[in-house]
Amino acid sequence: MLEQFYDFSSRLLELDKQAMELCKPEFEKVEAIRDYNQVKMLKAFTENHVAANHLVGTTGYGYDDAGRDKLDQVFAQVVGAEDALCRSHFLSGTHALTVALFGLLRAGDTLLAATGRPYDTLEGVIGIGDAGKGCGTLAEYGVKYDEVPLLGGCEPDYENIAKKAPGAKVCHIQRSRGYSSRPAFSLETIEKVIKAARSTNPDIIVMVDNCYGEFTQTREPIAAGADLIVGSFIKNPGGGIAPTGGYVAGRADLVELCGHRLTCPGTGRELGSTLDSLRQMYLGLYYAPGVTAEAVKTSIYASCLLELMGKNPIPRYTDPRNDIVTSFDCGNPEALIDFCQGIQAGSPVDSFVAPEPYAMAGYNDEVIMAAGAFTSGSSIELSCDGPLREPFTAYLQGGLNFAASRAGVLLAIQRAFKNEL
Ligand SMILES: *Cc1c(COP(=O)(O)O)cnc(C)c1O
Repeated sequence: MLEQFYDFSSRLLELDKQAMELCKPEFEKVEAIRDYNQVKMLKAFTENHVAANHLVGTTGYGYDDAGRDKLDQVFAQVVGAEDALCRSHFLSGTHALTVALFGLLRAGDTLLAATGRPYDTLEGVIGIGDAGKGCGTLAEYGVKYDEVPLLGGCEPDYENIAKKAPGAKVCHIQRSRGYSSRPAFSLETIEKVIKAARSTNPDIIVMVDNCYGEFTQTREPIAAGADLIVGSFIKNPGGGIAPTGGYVAGRADLVELCGHRLTCPGTGRELGSTLDSLRQMYLGLYYAPGVTAEAVKTSIYASCLLELMGKNPIPRYTDPRNDIVTSFDCGNPEALIDFCQGIQAGSPVDSFVAPEPYAMAGYNDEVIMAAGAFTSGSSIELSCDGPLREPFTAYLQGGLNFAASRAGVLLAIQRAFKNEL
């Protein structure tokens, strides 16, 4: 079928056929998770009595915005939390994480990063080294920072976490990998990290950066003991439909604190009109289990194909998934750029432009990003990016539907590795 639309080499089509066969049992597991999460979602909508009037937003101050508050309840139920803030007013995942960190931490408190260095853009928020200097980082507000590096770059150091936890107010855990070469953490691993931290500090507040992890399993990190989870609506939970936004969910008292930081201390979550955003937020959330499953299938398929090509992707196609990312080392800048340009060519929007590396705010190295997306920068849509540094690792994620994303992955592989096909 594919060859009717694209000029793929016969070798590549043969590899595609093999990969589709090998992925079958893995896809079945993904579909079982999807079906469970979708029915859980339906129950959250029906039990909370979502009604047509909730899909219509407010203007001005947004007091008594019933649709906004209802969405919080639905989301909280779906992720197993006491309470949630789902807001189009969160500008990105980094912003939601920033609101949570500033909401929880006060001068003199310590933030402990238990799973190594947090995501690149958080370095400026925390004020690690010179990052964010002069911009009002947590460090400049008197919040101290400590870190437990991962053992061998991929395994939490439970002993050290237990040792460092007593001095800390908040424990930060990152579920997905960011720009590192470890697989995402399973909920079992997250649970062990939390137990290690609580073994020496029962009051420590555990906050999980849940970006890319939502709906990849049937449970969320709250079920593993996290107090708060944070993420972006232009990733998994927005289902490719929410045009912007993020969330904070977890313990009711902590969510409340985050509300005061999101708007104004003393006013909190009562404020914030939703304009015309609610229908898309609800619809996107409703679709999120299915869309996330399509992205996970794309990730599994890409891992399989890359493994057949001898590219050693992380994770392997048979590994359980806890995020939607597949990475592999391109080895040289040209292959990374070609791969990203191939993904762009297989995207529904802006397929005819070629992305180039550039210096992006919040990132230390030049970055190349392919995203031919309906929502600008959305990475639940098929996208690929990587920093221009050794070993030129490509991070592939997303895919609103597997059939189209499969073609995109093939275009990227053909372009980057044409002399091997
Ligand atoms: C995407 C992501 C973030 C936040 O990124 P934004 O681009 O600000 O939405 C944070 N942590 C991880 C692990 C991520 O994948």
